[in-house]
Amino acid sequence: MLFLAPGVALQLTRLFKQRGLLTELRASVRTIMLLGEVSVPAMRSRLGQWWGATAYNASYGSTETGTLAAACRHDRLHLLTAANYCELLTAEGLTEAHRPGTGRLVVTPLNLHARPLLRYDTGDDVVIGTDCPCGTATPDVTVLGRGTDGVRIGDVTVTPHLVEQVVYGQTTATGYLLEVAPDRLRLLLERDVDADRETEPERAAAVREAFRDRFGLDDTEVLFLNSLPSTTKSGGSQKSWKRSNIRILEAS
Ligand SMILES: [Zn+2]
Repeated sequence: MLFLAPGVALQLTRLFKQRGLLTELRASVRTIMLLGEVSVPAMRSRLGQWWGATAYNASYGSTETGTLAAACRHDRLHLLTAANYCELLTAEGLTEAHRPGTGRLVVTPLNLHARPLLRYDTGDDVVIGTDCPCGTATPDVTVLGRGTDGVRIGDVTVTPHLVEQVVYGQTTATGYLLEVAPDRLRLLLERDVDADRETEPERAAAVREAFRDRFGLDDTEVLFLNSLPSTTKSGGSQKSWKRSNIRILEAS
């Protein structure tokens, strides 16, 4: 079993492939537990495929609050409601997070005696669900990322969650950088070590199509590169997506 952050998992896999070690190392790995940053289902599938293992979102929380949710065998995160009082902030105000809904997660940890927090706004947009087939009685939570992380392009808000679903779902890229200019959008993808370059035009077309379908954005330029700046690899999806995976450009 591997326990590591998603950004580290991607780059470590890349390094092991470069050194010809992955085949040997993956033989003993059945489970990959990701924690410390938000990861999307497409990234977990991709990591699972590379390692011949199942990748789970192990837990969700923050330094301030401690652990707020933990994984079940269906790869969903269930809120730890015995340790935290969880509420959802929506346009209608605060409601207890025990019914399906979307909003910002606000928590009151019940056991932080040394540093109590009352109705702490996590800043994370989440989706609450209650239909997990595992049968756990507590709601599950899908973390979409910081509400402030979305980037407005024309009439649409592009979020890290959606971009990463496309990147890791449609390609075997090990990282990406989204360049946003007033008149164009360019997605730079870090080519996998053993990538088949002949399939790249097809993959790029699939990414362009997904951007059109999900965001209504036409003519996204998609380029594959051998490597991206290390600043894109600092696990930005939760901490600061805009600084690590987005570059805002002037009009050309
Ligand atoms: Zn479950």
